[in-house]
Amino acid sequence: MLQFEDSSAAVTGAVRQPVGADRAPALTPEAETELRRVNVADKRVINGSTDVNQLVPFKYKWAWDKYLSACANHWMPQEIQMSRDIAMWKDPNGLTEDERRIVKRNLGFFVTADSLAANNIVLGTYRHITAPECRQYLLRQAFEEAIHTHAYQYIVESLGLNEGEIFNAYHEVSSIRAKDEFLIPFIDVLTDPSFKTGTPEADQKLLKSLIVFACLMEGLFFYVGFAQILALGRQNKMTGAAEQYQYILRDESMHCNFGIDLINTIKMENPHLWTAEFREELKELFHKGVELEYRYAEDTMPRGVLGLNAAMFKEYLRYIANRRAQQIGLEILFEGVSNPFPWMSEMIDLKKERNFFETRVIEYQTGGALSWE
Ligand code: FE
Repeated sequence: MLQFEDSSAAVTGAVRQPVGADRAPALTPEAETELRRVNVADKRVINGSTDVNQLVPFKYKWAWDKYLSACANHWMPQEIQMSRDIAMWKDPNGLTEDERRIVKRNLGFFVTADSLAANNIVLGTYRHITAPECRQYLLRQAFEEAIHTHAYQYIVESLGLNEGEIFNAYHEVSSIRAKDEFLIPFIDVLTDPSFKTGTPEADQKLLKSLIVFACLMEGLFFYVGFAQILALGRQNKMTGAAEQYQYILRDESMHCNFGIDLINTIKMENPHLWTAEFREELKELFHKGVELEYRYAEDTMPRGVLGLNAAMFKEYLRYIANRRAQQIGLEILFEGVSNPFPWMSEMIDLKKERNFFETRVIEYQTGGALSWE
């Protein structure tokens, strides 16, 4: 095994000299080849110097495993029957006004949220991540964001909703606009072509954006909407839409978990970024996120509906925010909080993915079964 004097060479990508290279005879051609190849110990999630085109040797096995699980969960929106939803939506007595408001507000937020997420990954995050295993998952995640946007569009089209109204909600509905206005600066940092990592300040900016995206956007801002539509489904209403949301929730909880693993790995590799000041800044962002999502809950549920009300969501959002904070190593933010919706945890539990969706079993055509006519 070759030993190296200067461990920083792995970070900077400088030519590495074996110990005693000045004294030892020239390396054999095999040893020189070995030196040029990707060394697993040199891989880094950010600011890495190894070849980003070489997926193996694996270092971040958790990212590769999530890529495989995500592919195993593949689904497409048009596989889900929407005929019952369409009949219920068209029936004047099918849903109450408050239930209709929930559906429209939900779609108003989500039809553009997953496009924001996709753009954040493709134009921002991806180029700053230097571990090919993580990039592989991000490519899959970007496609899933496209599938989610497709699912929301498919629901809007199936129900014959006013597309202009729904797709413009993020400009026109203040509770939705406020959430997006909070997020957009963190996306803009990463998509700015002049932004580069490599200094503690820039690396903290990247880390902060990743935390906002995973813990607050995918990990918090989606949850009032998910709980509302799944609550409709639990009462046998809008079951097609609810089924789509179940698949989306399953994907999104993996996006959030991947983001948290990514964040924790960056922390581990760059402990100097995790300063007390930085943690304080994060706590403030978490509080702001909870406040914005709670405002959205109040706007979507001016009265109690489906056995839910905004006050229950205050508790739920605090519960989720505590969990996200703990997952990235922050102290809990709210004392004495418990989960008012334990049924949501069951919905998220990935271990149940195979028998959870009882309505049908997804079969995919393999290459050999495809017709090329
Ligand atoms: Fe996502």
